[in-house]
Amino acid sequence: MERAIAPTVPSAKSYSFRQLDAVALRASGAPETHGKSHADAPASANPEQRFDAVVIGAGQAGLSIGYHLARKGLRFVILDSNERVGDSWRHRWDSLRLFSPARFDGLAGMRFPAPPRYFPTKDEMADFLEAYVASFELPVRSGAKVDEVTRVDGHYVVVAGNTRYVAAHVVVAAASYQKPKIPDFAAELDPSIRQIHASRYRRPSQLNPGGLLVVGAGNSGAEIASELARTHQVWLAGRHPGHLPFKHGSALAYFIVLPNLFRVVFHRLLSVDTPIGRKARPDFITHGTPLIRLRPKDLDQAGVRRVSRVAGVERGQPVLEDGRRLDVSTIVWCTGFQAGLDWIKLPVFDASGRLDQHRGVVAGEPGLYVAGLAFQYSASSGMIHGVARDAERVADRIAARLRAPALRH
Ligand SMILES: Cc1cc2nc3c(=O)[nH]c(=O)nc-3n(C[C@H](O)[C@H](O)[C@H](O)COP(=O)(O)OP(=O)(O)OC[C@H]3O[C@@H](n4cnc5c(N)ncnc54)[C@H](O)[C@@H]3O)c2cc1C
Repeated sequence: MERAIAPTVPSAKSYSFRQLDAVALRASGAPETHGKSHADAPASANPEQRFDAVVIGAGQAGLSIGYHLARKGLRFVILDSNERVGDSWRHRWDSLRLFSPARFDGLAGMRFPAPPRYFPTKDEMADFLEAYVASFELPVRSGAKVDEVTRVDGHYVVVAGNTRYVAAHVVVAAASYQKPKIPDFAAELDPSIRQIHASRYRRPSQLNPGGLLVVGAGNSGAEIASELARTHQVWLAGRHPGHLPFKHGSALAYFIVLPNLFRVVFHRLLSVDTPIGRKARPDFITHGTPLIRLRPKDLDQAGVRRVSRVAGVERGQPVLEDGRRLDVSTIVWCTGFQAGLDWIKLPVFDASGRLDQHRGVVAGEPGLYVAGLAFQYSASSGMIHGVARDAERVADRIAARLRAPALRH
């Protein structure tokens, strides 16, 4: 069943949302508690609240879980520390457009409201997530930062401010992007050098004039370096993560390369179930995907000087592995993130500090799940087009456990 709802994507006013089955969902008897009124009830009105499941994070991963839990008629709540759904996209840099065309940016039950070849802006993606919540009446509580997850008498206790949420199931959908990662030697840099992490970068005018070093040559680093090369002399330091050998946005890329890359390579071929996927996984987790929009020659044409990795600091300036010292006035750290999940007070992290999980099921903690991690199951797990499969599987597990509580996981 399809229904058009009022568009909220600002520069796509003429597109209507193709809501595939929200009406069917409501008709299936999803309980009242999933309505907005429940979501908007002041949390402090009841300092302890019980649910079948608590979902932490209202990005694409948490909302996808919510969609499937709602379809199964479960009582759940989605908590998010941001003020508005979509803010994790809104807070990214101003000029950011998705590398995935609209055709691959829909979520379960709703297509992205734009022509399939259109590359949405980050704000359009944010508005799409907000429209998704409204349309499926998902019970999101914004401004609810989870401070602690513990387990007491076989139930999880999720503390967010003054409120304790108690549930047999918790899904951590907080992504792998919470805490900026910057090398220790950054502290030795001359204080006159402006340092900023990619997560805080918005636009070129924030930065000092003069030479500028972008550290980290993955997708974010390459895109930010290419933008800054219009206003600054830019060096881009780091290992090249590989790139697609086709022009992004071309018909060849749209019709042949991207569908194969997203649907076949990232979604099926590179997974924990295939030898090639298991081999590629550590690199994907540490270094991200190959460059999707830009090729080295695009960077060269933009005037970006590609250099080796930064090895340390000498006399207050960054020094490269080849011994060169760069005289720069700004450094943009595109060096990635730590998961920032230390509020989970449970023994669920492996030796490298990562959540120990298989296909979203956290090891050793029955009822605890995760969604949207980088390469959680496949290379597509952390991307918009890949999150639905993992989310549905986790929601199925939760529903099965509720039907048969003796089930271990
Ligand atoms: C620059 C950039 C560009 C990208 N472009 C694309 C693209 O074009 N196509 C694509 O498919 N993918 C893209 N991705 C990858 C991915 O789709 C996005 O990172 C997406 O935002 C991940 O969604 P998520 O729901 O897993 O996490 P997020 O969107 O980060 O949502 C996690 C939510 O959890 C909340 N949260 C975290 N900790 C807590 C807590 N303690 N308590 C309560 N709430 C908490 C946060 O507030 C946040 O809202 C991009 C990623 C980046 C970084």
